[in-house]
Amino acid sequence: MNKKKLYLASGNKHKQKEMQELLSDFEIRIPSDDGIEFAPIEDGKSFYENSLIKARALWNLVHEPVIADDSGICVSALKGEPGIYTSRYAGPNFMHGKPDGSKISQEEQNRFLIEQLNATGSRDRSCHYTCAMVLLLNPERFFVAQETFEGELIPSIEKQAGSGGFGYDPIVWLPQYKKTVAEISAEEKNKISHRGKAVQTIKKVLENLIF
Ligand code: IMP
Repeated sequence: MNKKKLYLASGNKHKQKEMQELLSDFEIRIPSDDGIEFAPIEDGKSFYENSLIKARALWNLVHEPVIADDSGICVSALKGEPGIYTSRYAGPNFMHGKPDGSKISQEEQNRFLIEQLNATGSRDRSCHYTCAMVLLLNPERFFVAQETFEGELIPSIEKQAGSGGFGYDPIVWLPQYKKTVAEISAEEKNKISHRGKAVQTIKKVLENLIF
C-alpha cells in the first residue's frame, strides 16, 4: 500500500532521516526531493514562530500536509544562546550569524561553542536542545509540540566522540549514559531527544486526525 505523503519543511537530510524513522507509516519528503527550492526567511523570535513560518511557506508551495521542525541548542551559561540562531552560529563574534549569511562548518561551530563556554569560566556546563514541531494541514489547521533534550557540553573539543546523530551531537554529553549524543544508537536518541518526543505527540495527533 502506498504510504501517505508528509512534507518536511527542511533541507536537512539528517532531520529527514530521523523523522522517517519516527514516522514510518508516512513517506517523509523534503522540498529538494521534488526539486522545490525552499529557503524561507526565518525571522521569528522563537523556535515556534520559525517553525510556523517554515510550515506555512512550504504549504504555500505544495498545498499538502506539512511538518516543520525548528530546533537548536541552548547553553545555560550563555543565557540560552545560540538558541534560535544555532544553525547560523559562527562563534562569539557572530552569535546570530555572519552579516553576509555565510556559514562555518559544523566542526568549527562545535569548537567555537566549547571555547566560548570555557571562556566564561562558568562551571555550569548544562545545555539543552529544543525542538518546536508544527503539523500544518492547511493555513487554518495546525498543531504544535515543543520539547527539550537536556545534556552538558563536554570540557574540551578533544573529548568529542561518536559518529551517530548530527550537528552538535559529538559535543553533548549525557551523564546518565556516560556517552555523547553521537555515541548512543539512533533508537536511543529517538526515545529521549527533543525531536523524538515532539514527534511522539504529533504522531498521536496524526493518528486521530481526518485529512
Ligand atoms: P534549523 O534546521 O534551522 O532548525 O537549525 C537547527 C540547528 O540545530 C542546526 O544547527 C542543527 O545542527 C542543530 N540541531 C538541531 N537538532 C539537533 C540534534 O538533534 N542534534 C544536533 N544538532 C541539532
